[in-house]
Amino acid sequence: MIVLRARRAVVGEPDDVERPAAVVVDGEHVAAVLDHDAPVPGAREVVLADDEVLLPGLVDAHVHVNEPGRTEWEGFATATRAAAAGGVTTIVDMPLNALPPTVDVEALRIKRKAAADRCAVDVAFWGGAVPGNTGELRGLHEAGVAGFKCFLLDSGVPEFPPVTDLRAVLDELVGFDGLLLAHAEDAGLVTAAHGDRYADFVASRPPASEDVAIGRLLDAARATGARVHVVHLSAATALPRLAAARAAGVRVTVETCPHYLALTAEEVPDGDTRFKCCPPVREAANRDALWAGLADGTIDMVVSDHSPCTPELKRGDFGAAWGGIASLQLSLPIVWTEASRRGHGPADLARWMARRPAEHAGLTAKGRIAPGADADLVVFAPDAAVTVGALAHRHPTTPYAGRALRGAVRATWLRGAPIAAGAAPRGRLLAAGRTA
Ligand code: ZN
Repeated sequence: MIVLRARRAVVGEPDDVERPAAVVVDGEHVAAVLDHDAPVPGAREVVLADDEVLLPGLVDAHVHVNEPGRTEWEGFATATRAAAAGGVTTIVDMPLNALPPTVDVEALRIKRKAAADRCAVDVAFWGGAVPGNTGELRGLHEAGVAGFKCFLLDSGVPEFPPVTDLRAVLDELVGFDGLLLAHAEDAGLVTAAHGDRYADFVASRPPASEDVAIGRLLDAARATGARVHVVHLSAATALPRLAAARAAGVRVTVETCPHYLALTAEEVPDGDTRFKCCPPVREAANRDALWAGLADGTIDMVVSDHSPCTPELKRGDFGAAWGGIASLQLSLPIVWTEASRRGHGPADLARWMARRPAEHAGLTAKGRIAPGADADLVVFAPDAAVTVGALAHRHPTTPYAGRALRGAVRATWLRGAPIAAGAAPRGRLLAAGRTA
């Protein structure tokens, strides 16, 4: 047995609260959460420093690992090493950009084989909903995918086309209470981007494109009773519609990403395509409104949408460059830097970045420090100044390069033991709704 004693710990009892605590770890699980000075006879003692906070291991429910098929973009070994360095103990892999995309059970088997024995943290998987695979969804669900990602407009890769019959997909998912995640932009309101001016790129994907697509998703959810989730919300204009739908009983959850909470259109240099993602990073006033949506609970969670590619594909103008931001290793300090200056505390981080993403992905043993949960832990120094330098991602390309941030990850524990650099990977492949 091990006992971790922390003057500051975020423990789930049942909601996340920060208090002094002694966390007792027995094997891979949390056995008990006690008062800070409670005796634990026979246990090995680990005492956190006064400037450290003990957090639950983060769950990043939106990561594009891209292996197999586009492993030159990222990969399970590099992505999970970066996750561990950033305090993320579970990632949920997106079904697209790998080849084959995870749209049937055979593709899931191929992906799990590619991931096996390579992962430094635990990994779960989303399936994909595309035209023609509605009959595969139940099988994927039974094989353990956490839910299904779809696009409401072109995805950027030809092998993962947008859904054409949203209602039919949701009707199928209702049969087993499956969850549909939607990339919600409307094709009719998005125009072809080109050139080096960032303002032109933002204008090519206006907030209305998100509003309209989210409206369509909510209408379909209302009509079918299915559970839906809006990935990477950028347009704060959609928040009132989302809040009203939820108040009316529509089963909808919402995520946003560190880049929408930390970056602004005003600061993106023209020609700097490291900042390109879809939907785009918008103006500062929009960022502030997203923070308000997070504070009032309309936005449930923060996940990275880590979507890297090769440096060559990230070049060109805002039309040609790949749309995706690499930040898996940096989510915690990026969000904390902004959250702390807006009056939020570590318990908010735990709720947004661990508990709710775990619930969203059906990972019942993850996302909180509580008896019976996996002993996934982060030793975080919230006041430490850090500068973004070397990263464990396959490629170093990121808009955060050189940025000064607040908060350092001092150690990451996976299921009862610290993840040591250079050690053999211990990550497991998880099935949603079941304990590992
Ligand atoms: Zn994504």
